[in-house]
Amino acid sequence: MTIAVLAVQGDFAEHEDALRSLGADCFEIRQLSDLDRPFDGLVLPGGESTVQGKLLRELGLFEPLKRKIESGLPVFGTCAGLILLADKLSNDDNVYFAALPATVRRNAYGRQLGSFYAEEEFAGLGRIPMTFIRAPFIESVRDGAEVLAEVGGNIVAARKGSVLGIAFHPEVDESRAVHKYFLDMIK
Ligand code: GLN
Repeated sequence: MTIAVLAVQGDFAEHEDALRSLGADCFEIRQLSDLDRPFDGLVLPGGESTVQGKLLRELGLFEPLKRKIESGLPVFGTCAGLILLADKLSNDDNVYFAALPATVRRNAYGRQLGSFYAEEEFAGLGRIPMTFIRAPFIESVRDGAEVLAEVGGNIVAARKGSVLGIAFHPEVDESRAVHKYFLDMIK
């Protein structure tokens, strides 16, 4: 199985390590020609969503990736990647791929409080570590999107079909459970 990891900004390298440790092949998407290679799934890493959104457009990657996601390419966004997937941001006028019917709040815990660690239930995976870094959370989901995890009453993971969005950073913890969940989604 081959996973493309968006590598214009953010912590893409940690995702590649996680995916490779589970036996997946990965490569980085940095420019339009990288999309010529076939792939089975896409990872949108954490970082800064406004920077990533701007670079995606400048590099001509935004529209082709949006079309692929709309035609059912499995996609996994963490943190800034979740922001890129949401179809509504409650405190930002931007909308990017609009693939996950969910309202997401950027920097939802405040700039300082946004970084913390928790261990909570994730649907089907049991209790897993969750590291939050200037994190968003999901205020609400719609249209059949499924809530997969909550921390302190806030939704931190949701899925609709081939689209998985989570507010934390599984790539920085030792558990590979969420990456495995994504690979199992593709199978
Ligand atoms: N605060 C960032 C944003 O709004 C997300 C933080 C992250 O990806 N760790 O894009």
